Amino acid sequence: KEADLNRLLHYAADRFSMFSEQQEVQLSLDMPSKLPLVYIDLDAINQVLDNLLSNAIKYTPQGGTVVLMAKENHKQRRVQISITDTGIGIPSRDLKRIFERFYRVDKARSRGQGGTGLGLAIARELVQAHGADIEITSEWNVGTTVTFWVPFAQGGKTG
Ligand code: ATP
Ligand code: MG
Repeated sequence: KEADLNRLLHYAADRFSMFSEQQEVQLSLDMPSKLPLVYIDLDAINQVLDNLLSNAIKYTPQGGTVVLMAKENHKQRRVQISITDTGIGIPSRDLKRIFERFYRVDKARSRGQGGTGLGLAIARELVQAHGADIEITSEWNVGTTVTFWVPFAQGGKTG
């Protein structure tokens, strides 16, 4: 349950290197070389990262960028993880429902990418199962950021 986030996030980015190249979207990591160990369910957080990264790449046009960022919030004893893209964005009227199961923004607008509308709903359930929060901010035709937080492991030593 104690996990090394640097490793976890690098692996997550590696899993998507093929897909991002294929979509001509630049995927990069932005985090300090040392992060505190966190207390998480590894499989669950890997699933969350997969769902969020696949969305970020899928809904970003060619030439865009996706940044996977992590930073420590020492005061709140948690690490903030965010995925920011320069994609098509989500209209504000859809944002409040976007974490609902099967909710999708008009599918004609995407790059013809299929999906069931479950990725974000599952991500939220898995993050909330850690007693943690997840948030989304987005601007139509500008991009989207999804942020979630995971707690430090006991002692908060560096991984
Ligand atoms: P699934 O993930 O089940 O394959 P999906 O990607 O459509 O399908 P979600 O991941 O739940 O489902 O996302 C719901 C909807 O939110 C998407 O259909 C899309 O309209 C919108 N969305 C999600 N992430 C982004 C993003 N990064 N940029 C723009 N729109 C997004
Ligand atoms: Mg999805």
